[in-house]
Amino acid sequence: MKNIYMIGIGLIGGSFAIDIKKNNPDVVIHGISRKDETLNKALELNLIDKKATLDDIENADLVIVSIPVDATVKLLPTILDKISEDGLVIDAGSTKEAICKVVEHHPKRRNFLACHPIAGTENSGPTAAISGLYVGKTNIICEVEKTTFKLQEKALKLFMDIGMRIRYMDPVSHDKHIAYVSHLSHISSFMLGKTVIDKAKNERDIFDMAGSGFASTVRLAKSSPAMWTPIFKQNKENVIETLEEYINNLQQFKELMQKDNFSEIFNEMENTNHIKQILNGIK
Ligand code: NAP
Repeated sequence: MKNIYMIGIGLIGGSFAIDIKKNNPDVVIHGISRKDETLNKALELNLIDKKATLDDIENADLVIVSIPVDATVKLLPTILDKISEDGLVIDAGSTKEAICKVVEHHPKRRNFLACHPIAGTENSGPTAAISGLYVGKTNIICEVEKTTFKLQEKALKLFMDIGMRIRYMDPVSHDKHIAYVSHLSHISSFMLGKTVIDKAKNERDIFDMAGSGFASTVRLAKSSPAMWTPIFKQNKENVIETLEEYINNLQQFKELMQKDNFSEIFNEMENTNHIKQILNGIK
């Protein structure tokens, strides 16, 4: 692999670029982005070697698409139109059904691998890119059988070299499950942040009184709305279902409080402590 094109060089694309370059110092990483200032920043941070445009993609051995999921749905067919017969296109989007659907009948579908790296932080843009983001993290691959075997092998080697584990899933199950473990957590964090900001109008009070529990629970509320709005739009049905169950649980908790049923509140929390065993080992 000689020429790698990163479309989107924020947290996800930039972090891929750093570790791929570390493992393969001879590859040339080309950056493509909407804004020239983003490309300049990526050059300054050594995330990319050169600036490029979509027309250059015909020269790519590998293209990694790490832009918001609505932009991926729009752009992916064009990227596949331009990729060479042996080129591989990988996406990193947090939803998978709409992305897989838009290229399902594309003549170069076999050059595409649909992925979702389960790794990230609340930060965004090129300055958020970090080395080692993917070490020990899972990469969910969807519809692997639709990608040429030779290109699957290339992609697997690349992911294993940067320390990732692989899981296979169909796009519909991916979107259903990820709504619970990722999308709902973000909504919960955003709305917790909103509730506190609305109440404590004095920011100094929030700063003085918020403990580390609040800071860690509300961490995800710092995430990029530009990235998250299209995710909620694409996964609307599943996200609404998770929200209904979550609101139901909040409602029940409130009713237990109103009825002074603190023994049941104790039980609810004790049962949920089981999350410790489930999450054991996740950093
Ligand atoms: P990010 O740090 O905000 O970077 C997004 C990049 O996309 C930027 O380089 C931006 O460049 C470009 N971009 C933004 N809007 C665009 C548009 N409409 N058309 C074309 N390019 C656009 O976001 P990220 O966290 O790396 O996320 C990238 C992808 O990875 C998303 O699909 C997301 O769902 C997925 N993902 C994110 C996480 C996470 O925790 N953050 C985890 C797994 C997967 P300009 O400045 O030039 O606009």
